Amino acid sequence: MRRPLVMGNWKMNGSQAFNRQWAADFQWTQSPSVNVAIAPPALYIAQFAELVAQQGIWLAAQDVSEQLSAGAFTGQLQAEMLTDLGVRYAIVGHSERRQFQAESDELVANKAVAAISAGLTPVVCVGETLAEREENKTLAVIERQLAAVLDVVRDVSKLVVAYEPVWAIGTGKTASPEQAQSVHAAIRQQLGGAGESVNILYGGSVKAANAQDLFSQVDIDGALVGGAALNAGEFKQICESA
Ligand code: PEP
Repeated sequence: MRRPLVMGNWKMNGSQAFNRQWAADFQWTQSPSVNVAIAPPALYIAQFAELVAQQGIWLAAQDVSEQLSAGAFTGQLQAEMLTDLGVRYAIVGHSERRQFQAESDELVANKAVAAISAGLTPVVCVGETLAEREENKTLAVIERQLAAVLDVVRDVSKLVVAYEPVWAIGTGKTASPEQAQSVHAAIRQQLGGAGESVNILYGGSVKAANAQDLFSQVDIDGALVGGAALNAGEFKQICESA
């Protein structure tokens, strides 16, 4: 039985005042039936950790360095620095990083390895663009992105996978529950036997209004939520639907 995970990705949003207000509004009580996590900008993780210390929310990072050892890597965040702050998850391969930072499948895979080696759970994002979907390449793209990770990560049970169709991120367009389910099932099959225990999250314009339908699908084990996670009330409703 997989416990669902609902993770909010704040991207490059927030301020000390915003974080305080969000934490005051959210008021989550830890639940045995769902894991809840937030990935604030890394700069605010420590402040956010204090703000939600009593709320049973896991901490996540939006990215992590592929470098295993500390050293001369300006601007990067070592996985061990994140665990030092109590962070549990690191998002790797978000489509915005693949697009704007030109992150390759191989780099994303190495980030997943670095995360695991420090005790973080990588949330590996995969997903096709609209053009790729229209060319019927959805499954091929996802298979390629995931294969790069599976080539270097031996213990599949250490992963979370997030299926995030690029055309659905921040656009208000959501994959239908059936569209998402069919991709999630393919991902689970590619993960092999150990994949039965892996959380496969859906991401792409998840809102309070569509969360329940998505979560009712057998292979959708929660969500990676962008825009709607900035609204504490709506994010809470999404968590309650899981
Ligand atoms: C995301 O960035 O991971 C995401 C799913 O964003 P949104 O929910 O805003 O589409």
